[in-house]
Amino acid sequence: LTERLQNAISKLKRKGKISESDVKEVMREIRLALLEADVNFKVVKDFVKKVRVRAVGVEVLESLTPAQQIVKIVNEELVKVMGEKESPLNKAPKIPTIIMMVGLQGAGKTTTAGKLALKLKNEQKARPILIAADVYRPAAIDQLQILGQNIDVPVFSLGTDVNPVEIVRQGLAEAKEKKNDYIIIDTAGRLQIDEKLMDELHQIKELAQPNEILLTVDAMTGQNAVEVAEGFNSQLDVTGVVLTKLDGDTRGGAALSIRAITNKPIKFVGQGEKMTDLDVFYPERMASRILGMGDMLTLIEKAQRDFDQKKAEDMAEKMRENSFDFNDFLDQMEQVQKMGPMEDVIKMIPGMANNPALKNINVDPKDIERTKAIVYSMTLKEREDPELLNPSRRRRIAAGSGRPVQEVNRMIKQFKQMRDMMRKMSNGNFSGMEGLLGD
Ligand code: GDP
Ligand code: MG
Repeated sequence: LTERLQNAISKLKRKGKISESDVKEVMREIRLALLEADVNFKVVKDFVKKVRVRAVGVEVLESLTPAQQIVKIVNEELVKVMGEKESPLNKAPKIPTIIMMVGLQGAGKTTTAGKLALKLKNEQKARPILIAADVYRPAAIDQLQILGQNIDVPVFSLGTDVNPVEIVRQGLAEAKEKKNDYIIIDTAGRLQIDEKLMDELHQIKELAQPNEILLTVDAMTGQNAVEVAEGFNSQLDVTGVVLTKLDGDTRGGAALSIRAITNKPIKFVGQGEKMTDLDVFYPERMASRILGMGDMLTLIEKAQRDFDQKKAEDMAEKMRENSFDFNDFLDQMEQVQKMGPMEDVIKMIPGMANNPALKNINVDPKDIERTKAIVYSMTLKEREDPELLNPSRRRRIAAGSGRPVQEVNRMIKQFKQMRDMMRKMSNGNFSGMEGLLGD
């Protein structure tokens, strides 16, 4: 999708003004691009019409930067179709909030149930409980129990011999007794929607009266995702959608059509198999992703998550005590490297992916490696006490790391600035930052 749109859009960029036939051509490209991305044809038709109505008007033809106008319109309409802004989880007026996961087998219900429990725990200090109501696959209960252990969330289970509705009944009672504030019910799925499954889900819904019925849909299933969403929604009147496996190479066409067809908000997106890989769904970010404008905000969130919480706390403590040293500096660099190759990081910044200027800029991923090499050439004592680094030691380090002594000097200077800035920040003073930006 991205490539096609980018092509269509970059064609426009080469012209100062666009004609009506240009708009037609671009609209055709956009239509094809959306169809290729498995967006439902009805949705595509609607979408293209909306954009065309807006684009063919004065707004674009009389504009000085028509290309920008079209991108803006396409982006705005994409955001609109996907629901404008994020949609928070429904919450019961008083505890507990009951969440029921539904969806086909393999869609990611169990995984998402665990992720959601962890998210609630981390972000709201909630005390969730998981109910294992998928009795058809013995492994499903084990799977949930293991997840529960890993994230330290209790799992209520009665094995596979008890009717799922009964399991939910007892699970709710247990949760009430333990005063859990969130109850997440993991239900069974099927390969296809069938009556028996729907019947069971109906009964669970009647009994539990969930505040939230989250339909979990695999984003990789393309057109099929829409039918599934339609089927579940018409039978159960779901309250929200979780789109999983967006870490795959799909560009999110399913997000567009599911929202358009069911008119139910997408609340979360699954971006990986790890328990921390669940993010709030932001229509604007998804639109950017579809348009290939980068996924910067998601990238930042990911980086923040990957940063080991414990390490961050230790680091903050060190800064307060002013004992931040080169060993910590090494740790920090490794955190940055975890974000992936520098080129990939830059590509995720809006406007950078196709920026011709980037071709001339020499992004050198070896910079961090060089800096690390310099630190590795220090003795342990030197790493712990940077004040020891007199000129002769610096020359030795330069020789050892194979870097010029000026580079060693520059690096040590930067380290000290960074350390001072962090110390100020950890004391709640941000005024040291301007100086750093100027260097
Ligand atoms: P269920 O049958 O609906 O309960 O689906 P599961 O939760 O068992 O998930 C099926 C498979 O999809 C498992 O291997 C999960 O690890 C995987 N999975 C779930 N969500 C995601 C996601 O967001 N990204 C990726 N890559 N894999 C996922
Ligand atoms: Mg499951």
